[in-house]
Amino acid sequence: MKSDMDRKLRDFLGAKTAKTFAEVLGIETVGELLRHYPRRYLKKGELTPFDELEVGDQATVMGQVKKVTVRSLDTKAEIPLTDVQKWARRKTLTKVVVTDGRRDLELAFFNQPWLAPKLRPGTSALFWGEVTRFRDIMQLKSPGTEILDDEDLSEAEIERRARPFRPLYPATSKLSTATIERSVKLVLEQLDENLDDPIPELILRKERLLGLHRALWQIHLPDSEKDYRDAQQRFRFEEALVMQTILAQRRAVTDALKAVPRPRIEDGLLSEFDERLPFKLTEGQAEVCEEIFADLARPHPMHRLLQGEVGSGKTVVALRAMLSVVDAGGQAVLLAPTEVLATQHHKTLTKMLGDLAEQGMLGGADRATRVGLLTGSLGAAARRTAMLDAASGAAGIVVGTHALLEDKVQFADLGLVVVDEQHRFGVEQRAALSQKSGDNTPHVLVMTATPIPRTVAMTVFGDLSVSTLTELPAGRSPIQSSVVPAQERPDWLKRAWERVREEVRKGHQAYVVCPRIGDDVKNAGDEEGEFVLGEEDQPKKQARPPISVVQVAEALAEILHDLRVEILHGRLPAEEKDAVMSRFAAGEVDVLIATTVIEVGVDVPNASTMVIMDADRFGISQLHQLRGRVGRGRVPGLCLLVTDLWPGSKSYGRLDAVASTTDGFELSRIDLETRREGDVLGVAQSGKRSSLKLLSVLRDEEIIFTARHVANSIVSVDAELAGYPTLRSFVRSALESESTEYLEKT
Ligand code: ADP
Ligand code: MG
Repeated sequence: MKSDMDRKLRDFLGAKTAKTFAEVLGIETVGELLRHYPRRYLKKGELTPFDELEVGDQATVMGQVKKVTVRSLDTKAEIPLTDVQKWARRKTLTKVVVTDGRRDLELAFFNQPWLAPKLRPGTSALFWGEVTRFRDIMQLKSPGTEILDDEDLSEAEIERRARPFRPLYPATSKLSTATIERSVKLVLEQLDENLDDPIPELILRKERLLGLHRALWQIHLPDSEKDYRDAQQRFRFEEALVMQTILAQRRAVTDALKAVPRPRIEDGLLSEFDERLPFKLTEGQAEVCEEIFADLARPHPMHRLLQGEVGSGKTVVALRAMLSVVDAGGQAVLLAPTEVLATQHHKTLTKMLGDLAEQGMLGGADRATRVGLLTGSLGAAARRTAMLDAASGAAGIVVGTHALLEDKVQFADLGLVVVDEQHRFGVEQRAALSQKSGDNTPHVLVMTATPIPRTVAMTVFGDLSVSTLTELPAGRSPIQSSVVPAQERPDWLKRAWERVREEVRKGHQAYVVCPRIGDDVKNAGDEEGEFVLGEEDQPKKQARPPISVVQVAEALAEILHDLRVEILHGRLPAEEKDAVMSRFAAGEVDVLIATTVIEVGVDVPNASTMVIMDADRFGISQLHQLRGRVGRGRVPGLCLLVTDLWPGSKSYGRLDAVASTTDGFELSRIDLETRREGDVLGVAQSGKRSSLKLLSVLRDEEIIFTARHVANSIVSVDAELAGYPTLRSFVRSALESESTEYLEKT
């Protein structure tokens, strides 16, 4: 049975319009169109106060034209409005000044001279586009345009424009918000009133939610603010219900998985390790360890997230968990996001274990085990040994990168997988692990220094338990951070280099971090673990490329000519990377210019200062993570965030936030708030429609809780959703679309 929602748009609209929808927005069916909700609503006659606009906003404004000029971009000569048609194929700039009655806003249209005669002074129009700044004047660059007091309008058009609210849709220059509005209305008018609703009737009544047909009218063509608010509420619930149903089904599956219980053994490796530990565990560490031991003793796989500030001591917790599993006869692997980190972890663990890691070697402790390392750059012989040790069980602990999972690596008895610095650990990856450990699934512990709010954890990781380390071990020094606006205050940047010199004179060391390797390397961004930018952080096309290690090295060769400066990045051969890092660790290098290879895990307590170049090119949590590399010893840390941005812009505000607090939770909240929902959930920006359009996992906590409850009760009696065919088909299409990738990967 085909419902109205699955019908093709071309049955309702003209073939040409339907084609445009498909091409521009990927919308082909009635259901897809009706779930392309307005971004916001414009109340009739209300001009937008321009002083609320901020650079970087996607804004739709209603304004009145004051002045319009067209110039040739080649000769800069002004073109009379009567001549503009002749200029259609040449380079022109049309500048329009519009007003909200108090302030002016400038619009710049490139190569669209024909607009000028339509935008005569006095005309009111809608304009939408990104707010930018050009020589200190707020601008919309080539915005979408809809003239409101056009003369020859059809009757339908006059009626449409007379509505109390105008829906404003996510639109493009090829498909205006007005066309979308008209199409939606056409479709709604032809729609059957009895639509199949994914929300069961009973729930609609209990939660006092609008039915589907009603809600669609109210969200697209509201008569009042209450109309669209009620409708949004209903669609938010719908989104939450679909998502929570998927998670409930998934929980049902994982609940049925089996794991080998690994109860703690009293006098084994772990006890010996504890006796040698040079410090006392913090209370938090001890507590979290107990939670983990309890999980490990159960016959179902643990799936736990351990979050804690940089330097909060997650590694010891992980190591104790691994040792406990080794004591119980199993093996553990530790997966790192990059080779550099895997190597570093291997060193750290080996060092912490001392002779407890020297099984079979002269001087090894009685109960010792081995810590293996498996990375891509390993030589053939070393690799073979490591593989053998994993397969025979001689290596109780194996450290490697994620590639380790895809490999042919076999384990004698894999009991625990620890994943470092990563939120995502997918269903597929877990499946890959199960194959490495027979019918049983290993226990999984995921560690991250980027904490996530509870609702996000609940949404994204349906079946994940969360432990948090909140205190830092004693003896850590505070980090002081400042933003350096290099463009506005070049003297501050000079001062920054002086500070570096002063620190070195005091016997400390410094990092200079750059977002890119060098001019000679075209796609530095491909480098594993480097140059990871959030979507909103993508450099604008016209902006200069991010500053590189090579450039900075050249500049500093002069400025810091008397210091020992070296560079480090992912393209250096492995031995060279190691050599540079060891020299830095040994204090033989004063200043290390590096990419984000140093982001996680690097531990040089004598490094006191970090200068981050083009800091605005990094995400908030990445900056926080980077900053965690200094202030690791008893030396107070200093972090300077250098940027060319203007103080006052939105992105500058993010840097200010990073400078003003070292509370990772606070930063994570700010980070998430400034991102779009899709990014919060880690959806790849594939251009596909997200199944979460109105729901915010940060704001809509209550809705998510209720939906989760409803989903659980549905799935517990009807896991296949046989009695809920519409919900079932929503779940299926959510799973089919790439947009739920975030669910798959957790
Ligand atoms: P994280 O991985 O959470 O960033 P680490 O595990 O690398 O933190 O710990 C940071 C440093 O603190 C390491 O040098 C570690 O040995 C040390 N450390 C861990 N726990 C304690 C503790 N309870 N007391 C003192 N130092 C500790
Ligand atoms: Mg760590």
